[in-house]
Amino acid sequence: MSEKIFTIPINEAFDKHDGCPMCRLHQALEETNLSYVLGAAMMEPDVRIKMNELGFCHDHFAKLRSMKNKLALALILESHLADVNKLLDTEVGGKKGLFSKKEPNADAGEKLAELSDSCFACKRIRSTELRYFSNIAYLWDSDPKFHEKLKSQPYICVSHTAGILEAGKRELKADKYQSLYEAITTLNRNYLEKLRADVTAFTVSFDHRNAGVPLTDDARESIEKALEFLN
Ligand SMILES: [Zn+2]
Ligand SMILES: [Zn+2]
Repeated sequence: MSEKIFTIPINEAFDKHDGCPMCRLHQALEETNLSYVLGAAMMEPDVRIKMNELGFCHDHFAKLRSMKNKLALALILESHLADVNKLLDTEVGGKKGLFSKKEPNADAGEKLAELSDSCFACKRIRSTELRYFSNIAYLWDSDPKFHEKLKSQPYICVSHTAGILEAGKRELKADKYQSLYEAITTLNRNYLEKLRADVTAFTVSFDHRNAGVPLTDDARESIEKALEFLN
C-alpha cells in the first residue's frame, strides 16, 4: 500500500455528489500542475529539462495557451522547439543513436512519435492519480464510512472506475475487492439505466411525430452527461 497522504482530499471529493468525484480531483490536479508549469517550474532547471524532453499534449498546450503567463509559455516553447530541432538532426536510420534508450536505431520518425505521445502535465497528473487510486483501495479496506460515501455517488466515470478497480484488485483481499467491485458496478449500472433512457428520449425527439412535444431537461443534457460518463 502506498502512502496514505491523499485520504483527506479524497474524502472531501466523495462528500459531494455532483458527477464523478475523481473527475473533480483530476480537474483540481490539472489546475495545480498547469499553474506550476508556468510558475515555480520555470525556476527549476531540472524540471525545465524534463518539460523540454516530454513536451505537452495538444489539450495541455491549449490550456497553457489560455492562461495568463504568455512569457513563461514562450520561454518553454523556445527551449522545446530547440529540442525538436535537435531530433530533426538525427540521421536517417538513427545512426547517431543519441536519444532514445529503448531504440538505439530510432531516427526522427520514431523520436517524434515518442514525443507526440508524451506530456509533462499528463505524466505528473497520472502519477498522483495512481496514488489516489491506491488510497481509495486503502479507504475501502479500512473505513466503513467511506463505503457509504462511495455507494452514494451518482456514478464514477469509465476511466476512473478502471483505475479504482485496478488498484483494488492489486491491493485488496479477494472479499474486499469483490465488495468494492459490486459497489462500483452497481452504482454505474443504475446511472446507465437512466442515462440510456435519456439519450433515447433525445433521439426520439427528432421524430416528426414528436414535433412540439417538449424535451425534458434530462434528455436535453443527455449527450453532455454521456460524454462525461465516458470520460
Ligand atoms: Zn472521472
Ligand atoms: Zn497532457
